[in-house]
Amino acid sequence: MTRLAIVSAMREELAAVLALMADAQQYTVAGREFAVGELHGHEVVVVLSRIGKVAAATTATVLLERFGVSHMLFTGLAGGLATQARVGDVVVATEFLQHDMDASPLFPTYEVPLYGFSNFKTDAALTAELELAAQSVLQRGLLDASTLHAFGMQQAQTHRGLVVSGDRFVASSAESRSLQNALPQALAVEMEGAAVAQVCHDYGVPFAAMRTISDRADDAAHADFLKFVTQVASRYSAAILAQLLRARG
Ligand code: SAH
Repeated sequence: MTRLAIVSAMREELAAVLALMADAQQYTVAGREFAVGELHGHEVVVVLSRIGKVAAATTATVLLERFGVSHMLFTGLAGGLATQARVGDVVVATEFLQHDMDASPLFPTYEVPLYGFSNFKTDAALTAELELAAQSVLQRGLLDASTLHAFGMQQAQTHRGLVVSGDRFVASSAESRSLQNALPQALAVEMEGAAVAQVCHDYGVPFAAMRTISDRADDAAHADFLKFVTQVASRYSAAILAQLLRARG
């Protein structure tokens, strides 16, 4: 029996998913509201992660311990680091790293102490399903020309690769450049994914994550976030989740 957790950092993004859930039951644990119900014929638990690594790790742990979820999916926003990760594109994470983890000289920079490595891989099978769903939704061209134009977007692309997380909203060209130089493989930066990946690794539960690029992590990164999430990212994630769940049968 699968019980899929759907986790997101922003309320506006979850709203689109919650609206589609039949007969959701609400539970409050650790100040977080968990909605348990059905989405496209699958049992799901939907919750806001809250922002940052500690908050997201706590939410993930409650999902595993209290709600016994068997799979975990994260949808959210991220700043684009690699040049190809443009605003409106979707990045499907194959692995996560904490860009602000540094216990050197005791451990190599980025390595999580006592794990012996820095990169936490997402589940290959669930990630492949998510990537397929994202590709199929983006190919359909979900947004009309005027929305694309309003956000200066081109036809959206799907990318797969490394996403980095840290407890900082990256909003300057200088910081973005220094992250790109330090971690040239990184496609995007956000604030929760690596924490959830680590918790899921510890519990041996499959995890996959997608992020819509909302900004370029540069001096303009604070630009109208809320508008982007309601008009672009939440529509993408609701459609991609629907596609993924339907494909699961
Ligand atoms: N204005 C929002 C704050 C969003 S914080 C509010 O008031 O709720 C940004 C969220 O989007 C985080 O959850 C993070 O994971 C992601 N994110 C998007 N762009 C980012 C960037 N440039 N740097 C770090 N995180 C980013």
